[in-house]
Amino acid sequence: MKIAVIGTGYVGLVTGAGFSDFGNDVMCVDIDESRITKLRNGEVPFYEPGLPELVRRNAAIGRLRFTSNTAEAVANSELVFIAVGTPSGEDGSADLSYVLEAAKQIGQSLSGFTVVITKSTVPVGTADRVREVLAAVASKPFAVASNPEFLKEGDAVNDFLKPARVIVGTDDPRAAERLRELYRGVLRTSDRIQVMDLRSAELTKYAANAMLATRISFMNELARLCDAVGGDIDAIRKGIGADPRIGPKFLFAGAGFGGSCFGKDIRALLHTADQYDVQLGVVGAVEAANERQKRLLGDLLLRHFGSLRGKRIALWGLAFKPETDDIRESPALALIEQLHDAGAEVVGYDPVAMPNVAATGGPATLVANAYEAALGADALVLVTEWHELRAPDFSRLKTVMRQPVLVDGRNVWSPTEARAKGFTYFGIGRP
Ligand code: NAD
Repeated sequence: MKIAVIGTGYVGLVTGAGFSDFGNDVMCVDIDESRITKLRNGEVPFYEPGLPELVRRNAAIGRLRFTSNTAEAVANSELVFIAVGTPSGEDGSADLSYVLEAAKQIGQSLSGFTVVITKSTVPVGTADRVREVLAAVASKPFAVASNPEFLKEGDAVNDFLKPARVIVGTDDPRAAERLRELYRGVLRTSDRIQVMDLRSAELTKYAANAMLATRISFMNELARLCDAVGGDIDAIRKGIGADPRIGPKFLFAGAGFGGSCFGKDIRALLHTADQYDVQLGVVGAVEAANERQKRLLGDLLLRHFGSLRGKRIALWGLAFKPETDDIRESPALALIEQLHDAGAEVVGYDPVAMPNVAATGGPATLVANAYEAALGADALVLVTEWHELRAPDFSRLKTVMRQPVLVDGRNVWSPTEARAKGFTYFGIGRP
């Protein structure tokens, strides 16, 4: 099939490369010319494991192409996916300006019947707005659909190629049929595609993210209780995760969730609920708990040292999670600000996210390797559990640090081993 994907960020590029890998003819479009130049040269503008290989393989055989010319890409396509950003507006609502602008550009360029599909995460009712924008400028017939994306950064290629489910929302049977046909290549079993009405599809994405974030905030709050009463959150996690009604995934306490989606989508969901005068008390509490959690590691250091003035604090891991260079809403950024405001000198290391952190102009000094960050540090904090940071050489750390204080913000180090080596060890909700 001939496909255009508008937006070549984490979602758009994975989608475009993924569909081309199944034999489709895909044009990826971005308004950012420098991105398109890089992509034409075989460079992926962000870190996502497996994506450069997928992009290069399909680009080399001409099935995957890149352009900043929306009109040309749309005119040559029967399916057009909108995968542009939907950042938080000032009031927490999703900023739809990129989506609606893309819809206008698409509408002006249709050359025949086209299905226009929103893959960006958008509030309930957006498909109707996209339809209105298209109708105002289009001279050819079209249908709209919603196909929210559930990929995880860091494992996005795998998620796209082997999705747990595909959600399609549409009220147009032609759109449903085209999308079923497109996904037939990707899905091994047809029961993985769920076709529903537009509004339910739009809401399913928010419901999924809100549920995942709820599990994290729930465990983070219980971890705080463990710290207070002397329980072990890891034991509790295993205890409840063994119950098939609960399941073991997404139950890890930590330094709070970050990333480009959970916080933004929760705020947008709350905004929608507010507009319709519906109270989402649970979802509101999830966000509040996460804001508290992002301050936990800094508060812990403040309590331990009394004052952080003149203290050198090393941070390991700055991306919002391992295997990505995405730092949007990363807990590390909040921690850097908190420590800096308290008078500490902050030194950071991350295997891939440092250029993005440097671009924020924040107060952390960034260094080229993990042990250099720990040099002369009064405390070392693990914020993001990259593989290379999960099993440190404690003896080496002991010799390079000024004070032997470890804060394990992801509960991945062994408290027994760290203490045996003479460290003061703090985890999250574990003794
Ligand atoms: P991103 O910010 O990485 O990329 C968006 C891209 O769209 C940018 O390259 C931008 O230049 C481009 N763009 C903006 N307006 C354009 C236009 N009119 N024409 C062409 N290109 C345009 O965004 P992302 O992280 O890929 O997220 C995209 C959407 O997918 C968001 O709604 C997000 O919530 C959703 N989503 C993201 C993830 C994720 O893990 N990142 C997962 C699922 C869903």
